[in-house]
Amino acid sequence: MEYQDEHIKRLFARLSELERIVDERSKPVVPPPPRTGLCGAKTRKGTPCQCKAIEGKNRCKLHGGKSTGAKTAEGIERIRQGQARRWAKASFQREAHENNS
Ligand SMILES: [Zn+2]
Repeated sequence: MEYQDEHIKRLFARLSELERIVDERSKPVVPPPPRTGLCGAKTRKGTPCQCKAIEGKNRCKLHGGKSTGAKTAEGIERIRQGQARRWAKASFQREAHENNS
């Protein structure tokens, strides 16, 4: 009987060890980049980018450190209107130019 108790205790110890290992393995494979102040993004050469990261961010201006664009429907709509304004202005100027020449 005593032997069985010992055996069960050992099994439980092993189980919690396995749970710990599984827990460790379920963590993201890619660790967050260490904050070195450099971008470190993978370049086309395959080497880490040596550019200085944008302050408060992990990536440089070429690798997503700056804004990556409007996300909300509101923001996207604002950009759409801005583009429409620019196009209207350009076509107005084009017309004026063609009528003068
Ligand atoms: Zn970079």
